[in-house]
Amino acid sequence: MREEGQPAVENHDDGALRERAAHLDGQDPLAHYRDLFIGTDSDLSYLDGNSLGRPLKRSITDISTFIRDGWGGRLIRGWDEEWLELPQAIGDQLGRAVLGAAPGQTVIADSTTVVLYKLLRAALAAVTDPARTEVVLDTDNFPTDRYLVEGIAREEGLSLRWIEADPAAGVTPEQVREATGPTTAVVLLSHVAYRSGFLADLPAITEAAHRAGALMVWDLCHSAGSVELDLDGAGVDFAAGCTYKYLNGGPGSPAFAYVNSRHLASLKQPIWGWMGRKDAFEMAAGYEPAPGIRGFLSGTPAIFGMLAMQGTLDLIEEAGMAAIREKSLKLTAFAVELFEAWLEPLGVILASPGDPDRRGSHITVDHPAFRNVTAALWEQDVIPDFRAPHGIRVGLSPLSTSFAELFRGMAAVRDQLRG
Ligand SMILES: *Cc1c(COP(=O)(O)O)cnc(C)c1O
Repeated sequence: MREEGQPAVENHDDGALRERAAHLDGQDPLAHYRDLFIGTDSDLSYLDGNSLGRPLKRSITDISTFIRDGWGGRLIRGWDEEWLELPQAIGDQLGRAVLGAAPGQTVIADSTTVVLYKLLRAALAAVTDPARTEVVLDTDNFPTDRYLVEGIAREEGLSLRWIEADPAAGVTPEQVREATGPTTAVVLLSHVAYRSGFLADLPAITEAAHRAGALMVWDLCHSAGSVELDLDGAGVDFAAGCTYKYLNGGPGSPAFAYVNSRHLASLKQPIWGWMGRKDAFEMAAGYEPAPGIRGFLSGTPAIFGMLAMQGTLDLIEEAGMAAIREKSLKLTAFAVELFEAWLEPLGVILASPGDPDRRGSHITVDHPAFRNVTAALWEQDVIPDFRAPHGIRVGLSPLSTSFAELFRGMAAVRDQLRG
């Protein structure tokens, strides 16, 4: 409880930290991008851009222009003129701007869950050695990833080898080396852990999987648009990710799939639909996959869902992922600084890596009261998210989050916790 006479928000170190936030915003070369997003001129503190990114102002025009001129004006002609190619065109832009992927290996399609299913089945179909009957995964991966692998294991008669991941950190190359061997078919891991924000060593883990003779599937939901990636350079086999988190595609915007070109010629994905068929509009008998990454498609792509993400990809290409990562590191460092000043003394625990190089773009802090605290914060327009059993996840979206916004949000967490 607050002592009589104690100010509601300000205390002795608030002034200095507030000034630091202002200084960090003043020095931030990406600060001007924040103005391009809807709602950033209010006092609302949005600390959940890693679950659902804010919309860009230009999306209002882009989407209404599409309705009027594209859908309304071109009608069915739009498919031939532009839309059929969009999944690959945006996929290539994403590959170039974000993934470190040469053209022809990335496509926008389905949801992350469905894309991961298709990739896992494609990876398993590419394994020729009958002794390789195990899928390696970790206990702290996002639920959809765990459930999918459990379902596929049942379908295909495979066994699972679980890596016990530290929920405040993540999977290490050492653990992958220990868990893999001559019976491993496929390894599936998240690059940035959804709970702790731990950034896995993607090149070293991919190499460990390959040394064991296994294929590597990466879930990039929390890394696409927040950390630098070089999928081609690391020799990653398959990857999937969301576009509604750091790529601001909007609720339910379709996912992306990356298939390394060395697997494309023999790609066998399990959902045979007309859109992934060779010469789709011939409507011929029997399924024959379209060549290249197009063969990964199944049904009609969600064009509406692809409009908003293009705006973010343009910004990322302009700003560059290196500058975005640099800002993300400063944001998470400031979040940790505020945690140490305000929350640690109240018994809150940092459930994220202390080493900045091992952090993605969010931190998680734990306290038994956080379920109720989060509900009260949402009422006050302070929006982090709650992760059971008792974590508040502070998500920092480098193009739209300001240091002042982070300062306000963390001060509100402290005030709410003090009651
Ligand atoms: C957000 C997220 C998903 C979401 O999958 P959807 O099919 O888009 O609902 C999957 N995996 C991870 C690691 C995520 O963070």
